[in-house]
Amino acid sequence: MARRRQIYEGKAKILYEGPEPGTLIQYFKDDATAFNAQKKGTINGKGVLNNRISEHIFTLLGLIGVPTHFIRRLNMREQLIRQVEIVPIEVMVRNVAAGTLSKRLGIEEGTQLPRTIIEYAYKSDELGDPMITDEHIAAFGWASQEEMHDIADLAIRINDFLCGLFAGIGIRLVDFKLEFGRIWDNDYGRIILADEISPDCCRLWDIKTNEKLDKDRFRRDLGGEAEAYQEVARRLGLLPEGEDSAVLDLEQHRRDRGK
Ligand code: 5GP
Repeated sequence: MARRRQIYEGKAKILYEGPEPGTLIQYFKDDATAFNAQKKGTINGKGVLNNRISEHIFTLLGLIGVPTHFIRRLNMREQLIRQVEIVPIEVMVRNVAAGTLSKRLGIEEGTQLPRTIIEYAYKSDELGDPMITDEHIAAFGWASQEEMHDIADLAIRINDFLCGLFAGIGIRLVDFKLEFGRIWDNDYGRIILADEISPDCCRLWDIKTNEKLDKDRFRRDLGGEAEAYQEVARRLGLLPEGEDSAVLDLEQHRRDRGK
């Protein structure tokens, strides 16, 4: 493989320079981290599954008119994306109490929220992604009021769509995290959805059993992480029935051959 210029390496993905100006290649790793990288591990085949799941979701969102950075999947671990200026804000959308919301407010995990709640965090590993409000975003100029309006509007549309998509395959969308970026047209910055949507950044519970099918399996040492991610991909129709491991075996085979 020709050497490409690496632009950025994050905890779960690497960004390389793309083939054309304004494009990047997003590579999905098997590395898993939690609690601001204090816990580290590997989930075999995670990168392949997240690439596929995120491709599927971003494609569907594009079809309903949500602007995204996704252009196309290139291979099992890489996708071509539009280069954006990342807005330094993580957008959390919550339908059911869980995780830090439950801890902060003492609400039992699994409690249906009376309405969807959107929260913001400042994207900073050093600071541990602290929670912020619109006031901080405006005061420090991380995004304009118009951009925040677009972000909140897109987050709600994405939530409505994803709740339905997952409910249709027996999964409750408890909460998830989104990231947005700006693309510049002349002097006008437009907000588009960036990053990924996968079991790494969503809480997905089986509707009937409440079994966790997401990264909480890793965070909470529940085991069966790869199987849970495969189950999500399988229910989305991305893995042929009974051939889950074959997809991953093929990838392992390629790695073993040093490709
Ligand atoms: P919580 O605030 O409860 O930890 O997370 C809320 C939701 O956002 C969960 O679905 C979680 O997976 C996602 N989330 C929040 N922060 C991050 C992050 O830094 N990385 C990833 N991958 N997901 C996050």
